[in-house]
Amino acid sequence: MKAAPAFPFDNSYARDLAGFYAPVLPTPVEAPALVKVNTALAELLGLDPADLATPEGVAVFAGLAVPEGAEPIALAYAGHQFGHFSPQLGDGRAILLGEVVGRDGLRRDIQLKGSGPTPFSRRGDGRAALGPVLREYIVSEAMAALGIPTTRALAAVTTGEPVLRDRALPGGVLARVAASHIRIGTFQFFAARKSFDAVKQLADYTIARHYPDLVGVENPYLALLDGVIGRQAALVARWLCVGFIHGVMNTDNMSVSGETIDYGPCAFMDAYDPNTVFSSIDEMGRYAYGNQPDIAHWNLARLAECLIPIMGEDREAAIAAANAALGTFPARFYAAYHAGLCAKIGLPEAGEEDVALAHDLLNVMIGSKADFTLTFRRLGALAEDADAGGPVRDLFLDRVAFDTWAERWRARLAETGRSGADIRAGMDAVNPLFIPRNHLVEEVIAAAIERGDLGPFERLNTVLARPYAEQPDFAAYAELPPSMEGYRTFCGT
Ligand code: AMP
Ligand code: MG
Ligand code: MG
Repeated sequence: MKAAPAFPFDNSYARDLAGFYAPVLPTPVEAPALVKVNTALAELLGLDPADLATPEGVAVFAGLAVPEGAEPIALAYAGHQFGHFSPQLGDGRAILLGEVVGRDGLRRDIQLKGSGPTPFSRRGDGRAALGPVLREYIVSEAMAALGIPTTRALAAVTTGEPVLRDRALPGGVLARVAASHIRIGTFQFFAARKSFDAVKQLADYTIARHYPDLVGVENPYLALLDGVIGRQAALVARWLCVGFIHGVMNTDNMSVSGETIDYGPCAFMDAYDPNTVFSSIDEMGRYAYGNQPDIAHWNLARLAECLIPIMGEDREAAIAAANAALGTFPARFYAAYHAGLCAKIGLPEAGEEDVALAHDLLNVMIGSKADFTLTFRRLGALAEDADAGGPVRDLFLDRVAFDTWAERWRARLAETGRSGADIRAGMDAVNPLFIPRNHLVEEVIAAAIERGDLGPFERLNTVLARPYAEQPDFAAYAELPPSMEGYRTFCGT
C-alpha cells in the first residue's frame, strides 16, 4: 500500500491532557469503499481532497491505516442522559485521529465515528450503520450551509461489514470534524471524581482553545461559564429559527465550543408545533422543539456545578456568581431568538411590537398546521408584492386568521419605509428554501442501502449546500412535504 495522505497533525489534546483519554487504534474493516469526500472542507483544512479519495485515503477513514502524525485516542466523558447521570460514557465508537490547523487558522479535530470498539464501548460494538452516517453527513453539512455552528463531515466510507442492530445493516464510518470534542460531560467526568485539578486543567485548555480572549482575566472559570452560556444561548436561538430539533440534548452532546454536535435522532420540523418530537426514545418530550432553550439552560447549570469548585476559596461567592451568570441565559437566548424571528418577517429592528407580531404569526401557524420553513420563505414574496400572497396563504388551514395577521404585518412593513424588494432580499437571506426534510433524507438512505445508489445522496447534498438560493432545477426539494405522521428517528444505530 502507498503512503497514507498527508495530514498536518498537531495534537494538542493528546499532548496537553494526558489522563483525559485512552489511546486506541481504529479496528480495520473488511472491504471499505468511498462514499464521499467533502472537497470544500478538505481544502479549508489544508488537506488534498484528491489524496483523500485514493485507496490510501479510504484506508485511513476505514481504520486500515493510521496516517503519519496521528495519535488515535478515545476521549473520556460523562453525562446526564435524559436527566440521569452516567459517570462514565466516553467515545464508545469514535476515535480522535488528531487535530489540524486549517487555512483559516482555526484548529479542528478529525475524528472517525464508527471505527470500532474502545475502552469506553461498554456493551456497544463500536460501529455505526451506514444510514445514520449518511444522515449525519447530510444534516451536519446542511447546518453548516445554513450558517449555524456545527461539526462537519469530511468523508464517509462503507465498511463492507454488517452491523447488527434489530437486523443486519450495512456499516459505515464518518470522518467528523469539530472545533473540539470537549463537552459539558467532559467536565462532569472529572468533577464527578472530585478531580478538581483535572477540571482546572481542562478549563484552562478550553479557554486557550475556544475562548482565547479570556486568557488572563480575573476570574477565568466564571468567565468561561459565561462564555459557554452566551454561545449556547445563541446556538439554540439559531436552531429554533430554522426549525431544528436536536433530539438528544444530553450533557455529553453539548459542545462547550458552541457547535451543534451529535446528529443522532435530530430532525427538522415540518408543520410548526413547539411540542414536536421525533426521537423514538424521547417518550416524555424532554427534548421537544420548544423545550430546547430550557434544556440548554439546565445543561449549563450542570457545567456550572463542575466549575464552582475551581472558582475560588469562597464557595458561597462562587455559587452566587455562577447563579448570576446562569440567570442571564433567558435574556440572552430571547434577545437572539427574537432578533432572529423578527428578521424572518423582515423586521430586523426587532422592536417590542415586532416581537409580538412575530409571535402572533407563530400562534396562527400552530392552529393552521402551517409548514415552518415554507411559511417564512413564501412570506418574502408577499412582502414585495401585495398580490403574491397566494402561495403562503395556501399553507394555512385558517386563511382568515392568516389574512388578518398579514394585513397588520404589511402595514408595519410600510412604516419602515424600505422597498418591498429590499425587505424580501433580507428575508430570503435568513429564511431557507431548502432544508434536510425527513422524507428527503429517508429517500436518500433507502436508495443507498437498498439499491447501492448514491446519486440521490449527492444531489441532496448539492441542493442543501445553497439553502437560501432559488434553485429552479431542484424545485421538487422545496415542495410541501408529504405527511410524516408518526415519523420517528433513532439514536444508537
Ligand atoms: P449518544 O446517544 O450518541 O450520545 O451516545 C451515548 C454513548 O453511547 C456514548 O458514550 C457513545 O460513544 C456510546 N455509543 C453509542 N453507540 C455505540 C456503539 N455502537 N458502540 C459503542 N458505544 C456506543
Ligand atoms: Mg453522544
Ligand atoms: Mg450519537
